[in-house]
Amino acid sequence: MYITFIAPPAAGKGTFSKMISKKYGIPHISTGDFLRNTNDENIKQKLTNGEFINDEIITNLLFDRLNENDSKEGYVLDGFPRNLNQAKIYDTYLENKGKKQIVLILDLPKEIAAKRIIGRKTCPNCGAVYNDMFDNLKPTQKDICDKCQNHLVHRTDDNEETFEKRYQTYLEETYPLVKHYENKKNAHHIKADDEANKIFKEIEKIIGGLNGDN
Ligand code: AMP
Repeated sequence: MYITFIAPPAAGKGTFSKMISKKYGIPHISTGDFLRNTNDENIKQKLTNGEFINDEIITNLLFDRLNENDSKEGYVLDGFPRNLNQAKIYDTYLENKGKKQIVLILDLPKEIAAKRIIGRKTCPNCGAVYNDMFDNLKPTQKDICDKCQNHLVHRTDDNEETFEKRYQTYLEETYPLVKHYENKKNAHHIKADDEANKIFKEIEKIIGGLNGDN
């Protein structure tokens, strides 16, 4: 199972990737996480400014990861491809292996994405995601993870100004992939403005339907 997410910032691709990974026992591969863990000052600055990292760096990082043993039978990709060039390189990579991808497109209005981004906090220890802007997503104790009691952190690129830039980049660079995958007939739209468990049920239906167990 080779799953690809196309989504604007804060639509939940990280959250749903983790849920898919857990349920189907496949690795969750996040290009954003690779980059956030780097010590390269140039990359850090680009992340803070909401700019994309160049295609060569990102494809090298990704393909090294995809060559690891745990990725042979599938994975869920979170954050790649982000533009048409990356999509074409990746499509060719999968076609050469005779593998098909399932493309999940998360649709979310810009105003909701903005609200989610500004309040988003994550646990650096267990990866749980919270949001101070939504009562049902706040941690019980301010800035403390409910699950492991670690201190929550706010991503440096989760602010209003960087959001505008990231959203604009999404529209210009990533949104054209929606048409690209619709034309290839492997795109599945999901309304991302709902409660996470309900959205995940939709995702399970799509995956189950394609695997013939629904
Ligand atoms: P994400 O965690 O997926 O929102 O990614 C965070 C940031 O990492 C993005 O805003 C980009 O700056 C960078 N990034 C992640 N994936 C890619 C990619 N495939 N191509 C270029 N930049 C990326």
